[in-house]
Amino acid sequence: MELFKRRKTYYLYNPNTLNYERVYPSAKDRFIGVLRHLSIGIIIGVGIFYALSKTFDSPVESLLKKENKLMQTQYEVLSLRLNNALEVLSDIQQRDENLYRTIFQAESIPESVRKSGFGGSNRYEHLMSLSNAELVISTTKKMDMLRKQLYVQSNSLDELISLGKSQEQRNKCIPAIQPIANKDLKQTASGYGMRIDPIYRTPRFHSGMDFSAKIGTDIYATGDGIVTYAAWKQGYGNCLMINHGYGFQTVYGHLQKFRVRVGTKVKRGEIIGEVGNTGKSTGPHLHYEVIVRGAHDNPSKYYYMDLTPEEYDRMIQIAENHGQVMD
Ligand SMILES: [Zn+2]
Repeated sequence: MELFKRRKTYYLYNPNTLNYERVYPSAKDRFIGVLRHLSIGIIIGVGIFYALSKTFDSPVESLLKKENKLMQTQYEVLSLRLNNALEVLSDIQQRDENLYRTIFQAESIPESVRKSGFGGSNRYEHLMSLSNAELVISTTKKMDMLRKQLYVQSNSLDELISLGKSQEQRNKCIPAIQPIANKDLKQTASGYGMRIDPIYRTPRFHSGMDFSAKIGTDIYATGDGIVTYAAWKQGYGNCLMINHGYGFQTVYGHLQKFRVRVGTKVKRGEIIGEVGNTGKSTGPHLHYEVIVRGAHDNPSKYYYMDLTPEEYDRMIQIAENHGQVMD
């Protein structure tokens, strides 16, 4: 304070008056002058700095900008790749729905379950403040969609695997071979459908297929199952029935001999009896029926396992001829 006061008092020698005279303003002027220069300097400096910083980035800024640009490009690439992945997944979903799930008779997974979104609209709110919010959010959304749909799809395939396993069991049981080996077959056989009755000579529905073969020829179980009938049956002579489960049953008529009894568990291809000429029959042959859920079906649909395409053609030709049945 003291010092400041003293410095404020400024004396100048006046040669005219030969006196020292106090000069107040000059000190103030100088001070103000300095201050003015200083402030002008500062203002210009700040102005230039501001102008420069507006025009040119600092090294850190330009690095960040570069990184940001790179990140944005990378996001765009990711977004495109996600589109691609979603397309591939959609393809798999369609195959799953129209082929795999159909084959295994699995219930369809509705689109609403496969492509359901996530609850809550503010799920991506925390990303809203980003400079590239739209790109980041849409990419994140796609990623979430992919993850969710993949989860549903992988569950679907798991389900099909377990269905496939039970299907394997089913496939063993469903009638799938001829009850008489091809080598043992004679040319004459008659198929399923309207045929001429061998005894009354009138058109009549033939509920099975006739395989003409020598007496004593082996008869095979056409699928895994349990023998439910092995006795004389009106019209069928010595008759054998197998329940295969899954709604399938097979009937074997006019047998000479039974090789199994009621309750026997049989495997596909196992010998169950011998061809004969018992019951209402016009010659040694096997009458074979396939019953699906209580209704007769064309047995020729159930030989797909042991026939080559040529053999199958031949069998169909023989079976479809409208010659007379042997009953
Ligand atoms: Zn018949």
